[in-house]
Amino acid sequence: MYLVLLGPPGAGKGTQAKMIEQEFGISQISTGDIIRESIRQQTEWGKKANEYVKEGKLVPDEVVIGIIQEQLSQEKFQAGFMLDGFPRTLQQAEALASMLDNMGKRLDGVLYFEVNEEEVIQRLSARRICENCQATYNLLSKPPKEDQICDACGGKLIQRADDRPEVIRQRLKTYKEQTAPLVKWYEDRGLLYRLKSEGSIAEVYQQVKKVLNEIQEKNG
Ligand code: AMP
Repeated sequence: MYLVLLGPPGAGKGTQAKMIEQEFGISQISTGDIIRESIRQQTEWGKKANEYVKEGKLVPDEVVIGIIQEQLSQEKFQAGFMLDGFPRTLQQAEALASMLDNMGKRLDGVLYFEVNEEEVIQRLSARRICENCQATYNLLSKPPKEDQICDACGGKLIQRADDRPEVIRQRLKTYKEQTAPLVKWYEDRGLLYRLKSEGSIAEVYQQVKKVLNEIQEKNG
């Protein structure tokens, strides 16, 4: 299956992607994770990307489109993938459509995680990630067993620099202006599946499974 996960920051795309990956064997491609890794490694373009990320702005289209082009050419994604955090602009959506066209593939669906702004702010403020393995926690809804320690690897839990309140506000503005128009763009193309993402992780996942089963049936 070829999927796109769409929705504002904090909608739960990454969390659901991990669960989909486990049960359906579809590999996640997260542009945010790739960008953060290059920032950690302090590569030349990682340093440049950080200037945008830390302000809650989008990294330029040509950089992100380049990342996706490179990812999609890898053998492990030939049987399917789900894009988490890409596309985020109309130009990226158009570039994706033509990349897939060239590969003789087409998107099966776009899962749109709808969630209100208050909930997003609350979730992002309470989010913590493991600085070692990047596992994600939420102090309110998915706390670690031991305070500030990753259950999976024992690493230290930290707050993402862009999960601070002033950056969260800018990220939401960026989302509304540049990414939200994609909802209609994909709806017009008959690809959009709406999910109510305000419930618990398990409740949202039930909806995800329903949609994926529907897509599988459609595909025969
Ligand atoms: P995320 O982890 O998806 O919230 O992404 C974190 C940050 O990485 C975003 O706020 C952007 O600065 C950058 N980023 C991730 N994906 C994209 C994209 N498709 N286009 C532009 N910037 C992106």
